[in-house]
Amino acid sequence: MIETGGELGGRRLAPGERFHFACLPGLACFNTCCRDKRLPLLPYDFLRLRRCLELPAAQVLAQHAELEADPVSGWPTLRIKLTDEGVCPFVTPQGCSVYPHRPTCCRVYPLARAVRPGPGGGPPQEVFLRQETPGCLGWDQPQELDAAAWVRQQGLAPYQAANNYCLRLFMHPARQGQVSLDDRQTHAFISALYNLEAFRPLAASPGFGERFGFEPERVELALAEEQELLKLGVDWLAGVLLGG
Ligand code: SF4
Ligand code: SF4
Repeated sequence: MIETGGELGGRRLAPGERFHFACLPGLACFNTCCRDKRLPLLPYDFLRLRRCLELPAAQVLAQHAELEADPVSGWPTLRIKLTDEGVCPFVTPQGCSVYPHRPTCCRVYPLARAVRPGPGGGPPQEVFLRQETPGCLGWDQPQELDAAAWVRQQGLAPYQAANNYCLRLFMHPARQGQVSLDDRQTHAFISALYNLEAFRPLAASPGFGERFGFEPERVELALAEEQELLKLGVDWLAGVLLGG
C-alpha cells in the first residue's frame, strides 16, 4: 500500500539515512504545492478531516471527496476534491486550514511510504522514498533528519498505525490483482471505512457480533470509540468481501 498519490517514484532511503528538509511559511514556494495533486484520503485521514470540519460524514463525502478505483488493486479509494482551478479546498493564504488534521499524504511529504504486511503476521514492512518535486525549496533547508524523525515531527504515528491496520483488508491474501467491487460492495466499503455514522447502526444491530464472529466486548468498544469502529469496519469488510 502506498500512502501518497500517483506513482511511487523517487530514490529509496537507506535505513537511518539522513536528509535536509523543512517546510516553512517564509519560503517562496509556500502553498504552491497544495494544488494539481492527487491527494488520497485513507480511512483514518477521512475520520480526522471530518472531525476537524465538524460535519457529518455524508456531507464531507459529498463536498470534499471524489471516489475512484485504485488502478493497481481495484479497491475504491477517495481523494480530496480539488477546486475547478486544481487547488486543494483547504489551502488559505496563511497555509493549510486543516493543518492539525491534514491527511497522511501531506504529512509524509517529501517522503512516500510504501508498506506491506509482514511475513507470518509479523510487523508490517515499510520503505520510504524521496519525492523531489520541482520548485520545492524545502530540500535546501538546514534541518537534517532521518525518516523516523520526520515521522515523529509530522505526528504520523496514529496515521501509520491506522493505515497499517487496513493492510489486512487492502492487501488481503485472498485478493490478487485488480478486481472491481460491484455497487453494493462499494456502498458497504464506503460505509464501513468512511461513513461510520452509517456503519454504526449496523454494528449496533441485534445479532451483529454473533453473525459476523465478533465478541460482544469488541462490538461494545467499537460503539464507544470511533477508531475502534473503523477497525471493526476493516475486519467486517474482510469477512464479507473476502471470507475473513
Ligand atoms: S517547502 Fe515544499 S512542501 Fe513546503 S510549501 Fe514549499 S513546495 Fe510545499
Ligand atoms: S490538506 Fe492542507 S496540506 Fe494538504 S494539500 Fe490541502 S491545504 Fe495542503
